[in-house]
Amino acid sequence: MQDYISVIGGGLAGTEAAYQIAKKGIKVKLYEMKPIKFSPAHSNKNLAEIVCSNSFKSNLLTNACGLLKEELRRLGSLLIKIADETAVPAGQALAVDRSNFSQKVTEKIKSNPLIEIINKEVTNIDDIIENGITIIATGPLTTDKLAKQIAKITGEDKLYFYDAAAPIVSKESINFNIAFYGDRYLQEKKKEESIEEWKDRIKKQTVKEQSYINLPMNKEEYEDFCKGLLEAEVITLHNFEKKEIFEGCMPIEIMAKRGIDTLRFGPLKPVGFDDPRTRKKTICYCATKTR
Ligand SMILES: Cc1cc2nc3c(=O)[nH]c(=O)nc-3n(C[C@H](O)[C@H](O)[C@H](O)COP(=O)(O)OP(=O)(O)OC[C@H]3O[C@@H](n4cnc5c(N)ncnc54)[C@H](O)[C@@H]3O)c2cc1C
Repeated sequence: MQDYISVIGGGLAGTEAAYQIAKKGIKVKLYEMKPIKFSPAHSNKNLAEIVCSNSFKSNLLTNACGLLKEELRRLGSLLIKIADETAVPAGQALAVDRSNFSQKVTEKIKSNPLIEIINKEVTNIDDIIENGITIIATGPLTTDKLAKQIAKITGEDKLYFYDAAAPIVSKESINFNIAFYGDRYLQEKKKEESIEEWKDRIKKQTVKEQSYINLPMNKEEYEDFCKGLLEAEVITLHNFEKKEIFEGCMPIEIMAKRGIDTLRFGPLKPVGFDDPRTRKKTICYCATKTR
């Protein structure tokens, strides 16, 4: 038995695992195939590359996502600490500048004397496992050869991964005579507030409180928006993306296909926002500012 632990995969899970092991004074061999080989979604040579949304979801302690992050903070998580340091305004959510985030994690891991980074694709885990404790953290896009071996070891033949990409709205396309900044629930006019007090409070909101750009729609605009979604060009799926849809992470056009009311009872629900033009609750498309 060797005096080190092997971690395969230098993504989010693998780097956190390597850091925590080293923190206990144990040596780590961290295997990462980049920059020699990249998965179809990874493109940056750094460790802990975020290939998905830059949002780690809510920071509120009143829901599971926020509570989990707070627990990780208290347990001394490296990634949550760096996420806090590289956070960008996103209301109650924790969103990060993804390149800064990966860069900082990479620096921290590379400078740790107990962690040895080995840049190679692991194709045969038997050689590594026989040397001792091994953590496999190669993520949803584990290379084929390794995925087959994991399937063999675990007896599972259906390792599967679902995804929906967040739509990107270019700022230049937004009419700011209609759109307004604000965070759901913080922007809403309080019952006891006069219109003047409400407008005054909105004006004084901090950057953090104004971190979403909200696109209010009336009934006609909403119906046009849904129609537009149904008629819009859609991306060509990668080979690794099959056609199953995960209810918890659903593309907006699929929701629109399910019926005219789906979006207004879902992510576009008219709760927490008042349209400054009409002072009424409004259906809103909310976009996070990423720059
Ligand atoms: C296109 C896409 C969109 C996503 N969108 C979201 C989202 O919006 N929200 C969300 O929560 N999650 C999303 N995910 C899931 C996201 O990948 C995970 O949340 C997170 O990255 C998982 O971390 P991980 O460390 O398990 O895997 P990863 O971050 O993928 O890290 C795995 C690492 O292992 C390396 N590796 C793979 N195979 C080998 C091998 N054989 N040998 C050596 N190294 C190997 C890879 O190069 C990579 O660096 C998305 C994933 C993809 C691919």
